[in-house]
Parts: sequence; C-alpha cells; structure tokens
Amino acid sequence: MWSYQHQHFTVHQFPALNDNYIYLIEAKNSDVLAVVDPADASIVNQACENLGKPLTHILNTHHHWDHTDGNKALKQRWNCMVVGAADDAARIPYIDTQVSEKVFPKLDGLDIQVLDVSGHTLGHIAYVIDDALFCGDALFGAGCGRLFEGSPEQMWQSLQKLAALADTTQVYCAHEYTLPNLRFARNVDADNKELESRIHRDTQARMKKQPTIPSNIALEKATNPFLRPLDDVFMHRYAKAQHIDANALAVFTHLRQSKDRW
Ligand code: ZN
Ligand code: FE
Repeated sequence: MWSYQHQHFTVHQFPALNDNYIYLIEAKNSDVLAVVDPADASIVNQACENLGKPLTHILNTHHHWDHTDGNKALKQRWNCMVVGAADDAARIPYIDTQVSEKVFPKLDGLDIQVLDVSGHTLGHIAYVIDDALFCGDALFGAGCGRLFEGSPEQMWQSLQKLAALADTTQVYCAHEYTLPNLRFARNVDADNKELESRIHRDTQARMKKQPTIPSNIALEKATNPFLRPLDDVFMHRYAKAQHIDANALAVFTHLRQSKDRW
C-alpha cells in the first residue's frame, strides 16, 4: 500500500488482481472514505479495518468486472453509496447515485467533478478531485484504454479533456501497464528525451516493485503517445512517416490501431 497526501484528502493505493490498482480516498475534513473501482472487496475491507473507518462510497469509472466486482460485497457490508455514470447505470451493479458532467456526486468535504471519457466503454467517466484524477481505463501511464465500445473520435475527445487538466494533476489510473506502454511509445517517438528519462525512471521503480502510478498530466502530455498528437511537430512527423492525413485525430487513430496490433 502507498499513500499520497493532497490538501483535502489522502489517497491510498492498493495493487489488486494481476495489474489493477484500487484507490481509497480518505477525506481530511469529513468521515468520507470512498473507494474507486473496487476490483476485490477483500482488499478494501482489510484497508477499512486497518484505517478503523467504515467505507462510505464506491466511485465506479465504468462497468468492467475488474472495476465493479467488489460492489456487491462492499455494499452489503458497509451499506455504502454506489456512484456511477447515469449513461451506464444499467451496467453498474448496485448503483445508487447516477452522475454526469452536469450532475456531480456530493461527498462531504470533497469537491468532485465528473468528466465523460467514453471510448474504452460507452458511459466511462473520470472523477476529478482538486489535483487528483481517477480515470479508470481511459488514460494509462504512457497509454490509453482499448476501444471496446467507443469510436476513435470519442476517445480522442475524451483524452483531450484529460490533457486540458492542470499539468500538476496526479493521474491515478486503474492499471499498472506503464512499462509495456513505454516500449510501444519508444517505437513511435524515438527521439523524445523526456520519454527516455521516463523509461529509465519507471523501469527502476518496477525493479523495486514500486508503482509507476500516479503519473501527472504534464508527464503524460510529454511522453504518452496517445496525447502526443497534440504536439504539432510530433503530429506532422508521424503523419508524414505513415503517409496519413496531418491532423491529430488521424494520427491518434493510427497510433491506437498500431498499438492494438503491437
Ligand atoms: Zn476496463
Ligand atoms: Fe480495467
């Protein structure tokens, strides 16, 4: 378990399943203890016992089982409030509170915004709490989610919303996929010095069994191949090399398809 201090809350990070991360958000000025995407109820139960606090909320980013499997057991044990996307309410188990970009959840002592980041699935949302982003399988360290349900256009829209967040925003994504993602990144963005230093740093971290997550928006914009189409120099160079249209969406779409075949 790793913990990160923010002004109004602490984030506790737990590895789960093969490569998932579960996050507990512990408010500093209220009794709120919220879990983001409980892949495994037993890990969350143990963490609540260790903190000596009841679980008050579940925040789901999307319907996939590795993000919602703990909903039932946690709801039964703690009678906590289950928050998920209004647009995907039918697929979020035990949902109580439906949220959207217009209707935010109200958690005492926390200022939460919701972004629709559909693409990996339809009705995939991200939660932004001050300078912390909980983005599920939309954005990863040096990667993005596969397009199981949405179109490249939709995913590109979603990623641009995340890229527009403050540079210092901490990216708490739901999987430790960073090293394999970086191998693909190096292949498409060879002369990127920031990418090279990230590869060095994150490789060291994994050798020490440390997480590479959270990363931050500035680092993702500089090194994540799926945000690099925002950089005009990269975008034109890539489009020219691949003989595709010189626009960000075309480059993003080509990158996503190449990664799927990688
Ligand atoms: Zn997923
Ligand atoms: Fe997942």
